[in-house]
Amino acid sequence: MARISDLLEGGRTFSIELWPPRSETAERRLETALAELQLLRPAFTSITYGAGGSTRERTHDLVVRLQHQSSMTAMAHLTCAAHRREQLEDVLVRYRDAGVENILALHGDPPLDADSGLPDGDLRYALDLVELARSVSPFCVAVAAHPEGHPQAPDRATDRRHTALKLEVADFAITQFFFHLEDYLDLVESLSALGVDKPVIPGIMPITSVRTVTRMCELSGTEVPRSVTDRLEPVADQPDEVRRIGVEVATELGQKLLAEGVPGLHFYTMNQAAATREIYNNLGLGPAV
Ligand SMILES: Cc1cc2nc3c(=O)[nH]c(=O)nc-3n(C[C@H](O)[C@H](O)[C@H](O)COP(=O)(O)OP(=O)(O)OC[C@H]3O[C@@H](n4cnc5c(N)ncnc54)[C@H](O)[C@@H]3O)c2cc1C
Repeated sequence: MARISDLLEGGRTFSIELWPPRSETAERRLETALAELQLLRPAFTSITYGAGGSTRERTHDLVVRLQHQSSMTAMAHLTCAAHRREQLEDVLVRYRDAGVENILALHGDPPLDADSGLPDGDLRYALDLVELARSVSPFCVAVAAHPEGHPQAPDRATDRRHTALKLEVADFAITQFFFHLEDYLDLVESLSALGVDKPVIPGIMPITSVRTVTRMCELSGTEVPRSVTDRLEPVADQPDEVRRIGVEVATELGQKLLAEGVPGLHFYTMNQAAATREIYNNLGLGPAV
């Protein structure tokens, strides 16, 4: 068990994101992926939360299980949209009592297949959730950062100011996935200019399906560079080729980020081990598997 802020002080971290499975089939797939991903010895594993509470119990159960029954340090995502303050306090108290030390405090987005937004909750912004978490326990608290600016912010500079405010009270940030190195560098420089030098871990998402990445980009406001779409479009109906190119693109970005001295890399695994394992191996991270 560890606080991720302590791990970051000790050096660069390589970490992964998983989501709690929704069905028995998805559960079996996750178990297979987990067996492989554990071999990569990630510094920590973060578990997503369905905004509005759709995965409240499943997120909790997976976080607590990984924390106590595996070699992995777990971090629980928690979103404040569509929640009453007491519901959030209840979740945080349960994590505290279960010995979970790491929380990723977020606003929350509707699921990929939703056709409407989320209702407001008692807390307006992720910053309020950071403060609530801190009032419950001395958790290590992380927040999200958006290299291209958050899509609902009026402009990038305003979003950078909001990110700086929440990172001032949080321990570190993990970014939304992105494809342009310059967006990440600009984010870190802007935060530094605003007086915030906490670690900002870049999030890397290997493209494994053109349809999924298109939907995720729409939601997060991420732009896929023309150079990447040009490579993907001719093979869009060949899943193995898409995956191969996705791994190549993520490896190239990872290499550039490592050369820039980033504090870590966080992999959006989509509950699949193969792409992350290949990128790990290509980048020479962790044990070759
Ligand atoms: C690493 C990572 C993990 C994620 N995991 C999940 C997950 O598990 N579940 C899920 O549903 N979503 C998840 N998301 C998506 C996230 O919930 C969305 O990106 C969401 O739209 C914004 O979340 P946030 O925490 O950055 O929000 P906030 O920090 O609350 O920001 C939201 C918007 O409000 C603006 N804002 C902030 N403060 C102020 C202020 N004081 N005044 C005016 N405007 C303000 C910001 O500029 C931004 O436009 C994740 C994102 C990342 C990067």
